[in-house]
Amino acid sequence: MESPTLETAAPLAADPRPDLVGRTREELTAFAVEHGMRPFRGQQLTEWLHRHAVVDFAAMTNIARADRERLARIARIGRLRPVREERSADGTRKFLFALEDGRTVETVLIPDEERRTLCISTQVGCAMGCRFCLTAQQGLERHLTSGEIVGQLLEVQRLTGERVTNAVFMGMGEPLHNFEAVVRAVQVLTDDRGVGLSARRLTVSTCGLVPRIRELTERREVRFALAVSLNATTDAQREEVMPVNRRYPIRELVAAIAHYARVRRDMGFVEYVLLGGFNDTPEDARRLARLLRPVRCKINLIPYNAVEGAPYAAPTEEAVETFRRILLDAGYSVFTRKPRGRDIRAACGQLRQAQAAPSTQP
Ligand code: SF4
Repeated sequence: MESPTLETAAPLAADPRPDLVGRTREELTAFAVEHGMRPFRGQQLTEWLHRHAVVDFAAMTNIARADRERLARIARIGRLRPVREERSADGTRKFLFALEDGRTVETVLIPDEERRTLCISTQVGCAMGCRFCLTAQQGLERHLTSGEIVGQLLEVQRLTGERVTNAVFMGMGEPLHNFEAVVRAVQVLTDDRGVGLSARRLTVSTCGLVPRIRELTERREVRFALAVSLNATTDAQREEVMPVNRRYPIRELVAAIAHYARVRRDMGFVEYVLLGGFNDTPEDARRLARLLRPVRCKINLIPYNAVEGAPYAAPTEEAVETFRRILLDAGYSVFTRKPRGRDIRAACGQLRQAQAAPSTQP
């Protein structure tokens, strides 16, 4: 497929004041002290910026007026600008946000009974080149800052008036390729003085950057749930769809998942995108069951959401069910992701592509 030509929004005039959104409580405390304020201002800033999501320092009513005015002079509260929103008949809402430099990212809100799950982007584009992914065609334009990552959740909550209950880093980008910003965003999102998400409800999904998985596993101060996107059961098959496998083959990846499970006492998730006719046979399912025996993690089956021009087909319902049954019989916890938002192009990268070239979309 050809790479889409991407439209951008008009950039805002550069503002030299540092953005405070997306900074950890410790960083906000250090910032306050550095600028002559008392250390407890750090906690107050955390609460105002990330829990109450105010957009003006003047609204921080328990901070002395002199400090509020000083903050407004030396810092800013970064915002994402909503460019476009699409709503699916099933309730899924996709948002396209413009960043300050005019680039755009997308964020998807998936309601399911009481749950509100937000699929968050971590990069503009992606360098990983997975063949089944629209974002891959764009290449990597840049990493998002922690403020832009956290800002997606804050902006969606402002726009919808609803509290996000679960977050998954499964939007555009490979989270562990933008390691430090993602680590900081995870800390902000799980800070009980800030956004306050439960760590079990915050999933970092990776295509398999093994050294980064191991590093994140050891960072005990970063609380999250791990999901690994596997999508194949042999190295040859995986290399065909995921170039990252040439650097980090399946054996090393499974060992990293086992290490995570041991250290974190959490089984973690393996995600498996079922590509029709490519990796969805009963033999694939049996190989997957054998491969994951050392980790016995939970398995998320994701039937491919085929779009026009995509190189793969959606699997048949029968193939999905047979695959699932084999894994269940082998003793795994298996979840099959319901297709959500198909009518609004739910796969990552699709809304952004539609914005760029509306006439080419079905
Ligand atoms: S699937 Fe994820 S890691 Fe792979 S290219 Fe797409 S955004 Fe990047």
